[in-house]
Amino acid sequence: MTTYKALTIAGSDSGGGAGIQADLKTFQELKAYGMSAITAVTAQNTLGVQDVYPMSVAAVEAQIDSIGADLGADAVKTGMLFSSEIIEAVANKIKQYKWERIVVDPVMIAKGGASLLQQQAVQALKDHLLPLAMVITPNIPEAEVLTDMSISNLDERMEAAKKLHKMGVQHVVIKGGHGEGEDLVDLLYDGQEFLYITSKRIHTKNTHGTGCTFAAALTAQLAKGSSVRQAVVVAKDFIQAAIEEDLKIGNGHGPTNHW
Ligand code: PLP
Repeated sequence: MTTYKALTIAGSDSGGGAGIQADLKTFQELKAYGMSAITAVTAQNTLGVQDVYPMSVAAVEAQIDSIGADLGADAVKTGMLFSSEIIEAVANKIKQYKWERIVVDPVMIAKGGASLLQQQAVQALKDHLLPLAMVITPNIPEAEVLTDMSISNLDERMEAAKKLHKMGVQHVVIKGGHGEGEDLVDLLYDGQEFLYITSKRIHTKNTHGTGCTFAAALTAQLAKGSSVRQAVVVAKDFIQAAIEEDLKIGNGHGPTNHW
């Protein structure tokens, strides 16, 4: 049996609902072998992020080198990268190991408001990482920051997707969860056509880690050789089921379920 390997380069969530922990649980669930390079350690629970401890650039590079020199990766996901220095180092390592199936989840701010990316690092994300991305998975607020646009309807979302594609991203997924109303539309743009995935809003406060889980599911599918279109459809089903089966643990925003 072939083993498909997925690497997540992201932050650790001590509460287990987002970041590295969500990614590894999702990889396991979708039968990809999970590996990690930790960029920052957060002290975190369902109530929010209490503290952030970024790793040194050398520590991030060393973790990626250990994987690159031995195991290799069929697909790579980036999540919380925190600083422009870490972004540049990660982009250089991706190029060094010639990894191509790259999912960039442009994590910026946690639901509770904690900053997971320094403001000045947005430009580094655009300059160094976006041109390497096979898929980028912003929510609407992240797409607004990356494109300098205000997005309030589907036309503007389509325009933002085109802008992100022009920045060198091969496929853009703008998630609809932060939009208005009961009907959500996730948008996939491949530079030629748009695919719209519609779903009903699920009313729950337990949505911690949804973005990480969606992007991790996408990465697992890409590691197994799936097309981006197929991977997005599977990832959407996976996150929809995870939100429906939300975990009622902790006193704040509980994590989405990973099984
Ligand atoms: N903590 C880490 C380490 C993350 O990578 C993320 C995800 O993007 C979050 C927290 C944010 O989680 P949420 O905004 O879903 O609560």
